[in-house]
Amino acid sequence: MSNIVVVGSGMAGFGAAHRLQGEGIRPVIYERSSYYGGHTASFRDSSGFLFDLGPHISFTKDPRVQNLLAGFVDNEYEALQVKLDNYWRGLRLTHPVQLHLNGLPKDLIVEILADFVKVHNEPEPPVANYEDWLIASYGRKFAELFPMQYTRKYHLTTASNMSTEWLGPRMYRPSLEEMLRGALAPWAPEVHYITHFRYPKKGGFLSYLNSLPNLADIRLEHDVIAIDPKTRVLRFSNGASTQYDALVSSIPLPTLIPMISGVPQDVVAASRQLACSTCVLVNVGVNRSDLSEGQITYIYDEDICFTRLSFPHMLSVTNAPPGCGSIQAEVYFSDKYRPLQQSTESIIDQVIADLRRCKILREEDVILFRGAMTVQYANVIFDLDRAKAVETVHGYLDDIGIHYCGRYGDWGYMWTDESFISGERAAEAALSAASS
Ligand SMILES: Cc1cc2nc3c(=O)[nH]c(=O)nc-3n(C[C@H](O)[C@H](O)[C@H](O)COP(=O)(O)OP(=O)(O)OC[C@H]3O[C@@H](n4cnc5c(N)ncnc54)[C@H](O)[C@@H]3O)c2cc1C
Repeated sequence: MSNIVVVGSGMAGFGAAHRLQGEGIRPVIYERSSYYGGHTASFRDSSGFLFDLGPHISFTKDPRVQNLLAGFVDNEYEALQVKLDNYWRGLRLTHPVQLHLNGLPKDLIVEILADFVKVHNEPEPPVANYEDWLIASYGRKFAELFPMQYTRKYHLTTASNMSTEWLGPRMYRPSLEEMLRGALAPWAPEVHYITHFRYPKKGGFLSYLNSLPNLADIRLEHDVIAIDPKTRVLRFSNGASTQYDALVSSIPLPTLIPMISGVPQDVVAASRQLACSTCVLVNVGVNRSDLSEGQITYIYDEDICFTRLSFPHMLSVTNAPPGCGSIQAEVYFSDKYRPLQQSTESIIDQVIADLRRCKILREEDVILFRGAMTVQYANVIFDLDRAKAVETVHGYLDDIGIHYCGRYGDWGYMWTDESFISGERAAEAALSAASS
């Protein structure tokens, strides 16, 4: 039987193991961390609060993946309506803001609408970058005050330095009628690409991966540091090594490329151009649960350190002790655009101070837990260097027969279901390669 080795035990590694099981193969998965699950891991602290490694909800529209995930948790999941809101200069605005202008000052609504009508009446201009797309879609005033500002916080670069390949259904383009309706009065159009989602009843998002140890022999604390594609050998930082017939890798490309022996310099240079955000997740447990109406809040103001807030106790009651609530704040950095230079403790202090400034935390709230987790690779940044660099790197990996997969192997803006499917596809390709 072919020796197909998988690196990484996140959703992509899970997808690969699931596909290989279909062929009667139980692969070895090598994982650098002391736990499995990658980005979909969940941790419960000693005070009883559970935090995922970044807010994770399942909103896949693929019925096959929906059924698989439901089966993995024995149908024990919450099915919830999504509730999103926005914080902008002290105001709480319904999501998406472009359809709910009525919460804004009147003069500003007039300016936004006047700009929107102007672009609406002009022929669609050529779009060379995300900024062009935003202005063509919403008018300059709205684009500058909302998505362009959010872009600097979330993607850590300017909209003019970004492509539009990643957009998909993420940014809703309203009609004039929809903008006017939302400016005149509150209404509830169902236009967001997520309306409902699922989340395991207990154990956090990681519960979806509970069957992974049955599908694969997971070797934790095996950090791959060198790959020889000619002899097909992997070496680990603990001194061990292993051989493979075919390799499925979900290692992030900028980490993977320099460890390959004989890699050409232009490929290394391309991998250095790939930009990604790093996320410091600040977790706070509080002695009350009425912290928010929405499960996720987007924060636009650049003088507030966090970009998004989520409230894990609103996903499952088992995520917090009875009567308590929890907050997870995302603070973003990027080696390429905004390197992380602060200590974790100072980021936690700043988050708590900003939560009070936004009136999400009250002075009298008792903080039962505070902590932070750093996600080195968070969101791929679709800057203008990305497309060409990815083509170079993927072309090289195809040539040497390494089957890359997942968010950081494909180097895309992929959700958990897409990462799972990507792992399945890579396993499929590895099966064909190993049998040829
Ligand atoms: C903040 C945030 C929120 C998100 N929210 C959602 C959401 O709500 N819904 C959703 O569907 N998706 C969400 N996503 C996307 C989702 O996390 C990813 O699509 C998915 O988890 C990626 O899985 P993966 O297996 O590709 O990568 P990973 O989960 O990163 O798995 C890769 C694994 O490889 C291991 N590894 C890396 N290098 C080595 C090495 N050298 N040797 C051995 N092992 C190595 C890592 O430790 C890791 O376990 C979110 C992502 C982020 C960052």
